[in-house]
Amino acid sequence: MYQHHRYHDYAGPELTAGKVVCVGRNYLDHIRELNNPVPDQPILFMKPSTALVDIEQPLRLPSFSRECHHELELAVLVGERLHEADASRCRAAVAGYGLALDLTLRDIQQGLKEKGQPWERAKAFDGGCPLTPFVAPEAIDPENCQLRLWVNGELRQEGNTKQMMTPPFALMAHMSRFFTLLPGDVVLTGTPAGVGALNPGDRLLLELDGRYRFESIVAD
Ligand code: ZN
Repeated sequence: MYQHHRYHDYAGPELTAGKVVCVGRNYLDHIRELNNPVPDQPILFMKPSTALVDIEQPLRLPSFSRECHHELELAVLVGERLHEADASRCRAAVAGYGLALDLTLRDIQQGLKEKGQPWERAKAFDGGCPLTPFVAPEAIDPENCQLRLWVNGELRQEGNTKQMMTPPFALMAHMSRFFTLLPGDVVLTGTPAGVGALNPGDRLLLELDGRYRFESIVAD
């Protein structure tokens, strides 16, 4: 059973893991790489708490897909209830920042998109949201921090959160109009360019703000 973890120097609150509220197409370079249209408002979707796994445990790719993509994202741990909140209220309610892989079954998502069907089977499946431990809210500037992902030593994804079309707190405020955010919920903020497939045995290195590094492996 997944529980949120805190980075070793951070004595934050113990929060029970809740839902994950996510945004699609929040970095222009990623929109271009998939030839998607630029949305006129954030594209929101959710993953249930059963999608959460600890990224420092071996990741299991689902057997019903042949193309599981990594999407490296800044993850925000919600510490207080947010309902129709403004951006400054959202900022004050953050309990930590980490990195997530918004795992996406690109083959299944493509089929669903073509039929105009919801994305859940491609995004919300068990294990579809590996999370790192969370650092303290004051440890990074979420509006200007670097995200990097290496796979087998090769730099695959690199982005800065200042490239987001809707920045983190405005995004949380927008989400809170439709979905009340509760303590222990997680907000994913979109992925920069460089998404690609994961394969059994891949070794992953994730880096937040040039300082916090987390390792992972895809199970054989
Ligand atoms: Zn994503």
